[in-house]
Amino acid sequence: MAVKLRGHHLLCLLGYRGKGYSDGFCANMTEIYETLRLHPETEIEVIDGPDDICRAFPTDQHAHCRNDSVYRKDGDILAQVGMAVGDRSSWSGVLERVAVRVRPEDIRSLCSDCRWEPYGLCKEGVAHIRGSRELRPLPDTNQTGE
Ligand code: SF4
Repeated sequence: MAVKLRGHHLLCLLGYRGKGYSDGFCANMTEIYETLRLHPETEIEVIDGPDDICRAFPTDQHAHCRNDSVYRKDGDILAQVGMAVGDRSSWSGVLERVAVRVRPEDIRSLCSDCRWEPYGLCKEGVAHIRGSRELRPLPDTNQTGE
C-alpha cells in the first residue's frame, strides 16, 4: 500500500533526525522514514491535507494540519518538485526530483513559517539528497525522539 504524503512532508522527511512533537509522533515518523530509507522503491501517493504523518500528531497539542498556511506550503513545495495531488511515485523518484529541482537555500523561503526551519536540518537534508539520493540513517540516540 502506498504511503500517503502531503506536499510539505516530502521535504520534512529529508530533515528528520528523530525528534518531533511527541514520542508517538516520532515513533510513527520513524517507521515511515525507515520504510522509505530502507525500501526506496516504496510507492508514495501525494494527497491533499492530513496524511500518514499527520495522523500521529498529538491530540493534546494545537494541530496546524488544516491551517491555510500549511496548505499553501504543500502547494508551493509540490510546484517546486514538479508534482501534484494525486500523483504516485516511488520514493526514489521523489528524491531524484528533489535533487534536481530544490536547492538547500530554497527551504528558507518555502518554509518561512515553520518552527523547525531555523535549526537548518531540512536545508542539510536537501543538500544531502542532492549528493547521495538516499535518506541518511537516523542518529543512534533518540531514534523515537521530529
Ligand atoms: S522547515 Fe519545517 S515544513 Fe520545511 S521541510 Fe523542514 S520541517 Fe518541513
